[in-house]
Amino acid sequence: MRLSGIRIVLVQTTHPGNIGAAARAMKNMGLERLCLVDPASFPHADATARASGADDLLAEATVHATLEEALVGSHLVFGASARLRTISWPQVTPREAARQTADLEEGSEVALVFGREHSGLTNRELELCHCLLHIPANPAFSSLNLAAAVQVVSYEMRLAMEQPRLPASEEGGETAAATAEELAGFYRHLEQALLEIGFLDLANPRQLMRRLRRLFNRARLERMELNILRGILSAAQKSSRRP
Ligand code: SAH
Repeated sequence: MRLSGIRIVLVQTTHPGNIGAAARAMKNMGLERLCLVDPASFPHADATARASGADDLLAEATVHATLEEALVGSHLVFGASARLRTISWPQVTPREAARQTADLEEGSEVALVFGREHSGLTNRELELCHCLLHIPANPAFSSLNLAAAVQVVSYEMRLAMEQPRLPASEEGGETAAATAEELAGFYRHLEQALLEIGFLDLANPRQLMRRLRRLFNRARLERMELNILRGILSAAQKSSRRP
């Protein structure tokens, strides 16, 4: 896994200056791929000014309408959050996230997602992430400036990538990690099947889908495993349709 496989995703950034400062933080650490989801104003002179020399990253930055779109192709997604959530997501420090990233096989894609200055990431957006990434900070004042958070995480990524790699696990198509869009397709199928077999009651859903997502995200499904699960869902749907 190389630094070039890492993308930084900024969701609905309000201040263009923060986008520029994040680009600078990235370039200092050797990261290159910046993805912006529905930024308030971009391109913008404040972004260019704060990038001070990292404006090539701004020129290459991609702009997306939705977080889903910005995550296409990623195998592992970390959502950076200043707050601890009521539902307990698997949570890592930047160092652990960097270790997990460094251990991925060559050619893997990792997304690091950062939220809005005022309100962070929504629970719905965090559900698209495998892990919540929290920078341990003063509990009474835990919210870092957006670009400062990008800096800390990028630094840990750089440090970890320079460490010798653990022996690679089995490689190849079947054991390849499922991508974000494959997982999204699986969750849609799961929800539909649970409705059809009468397990999911829309009148009383009780966070079932969120809990199931958390379970399967924790498992880091391989493509082959995901296909087996989809096969099981199809078989259950078929038998529930029999008269
Ligand atoms: N007021 C917001 C925080 C916004 S800070 C809130 O309460 O959620 C902007 C973004 O920087 C956050 O969405 C997060 O992605 C990142 N960030 C700031 N402090 C962080 C921390 N301690 N750990 C992880 N990410 C952090």
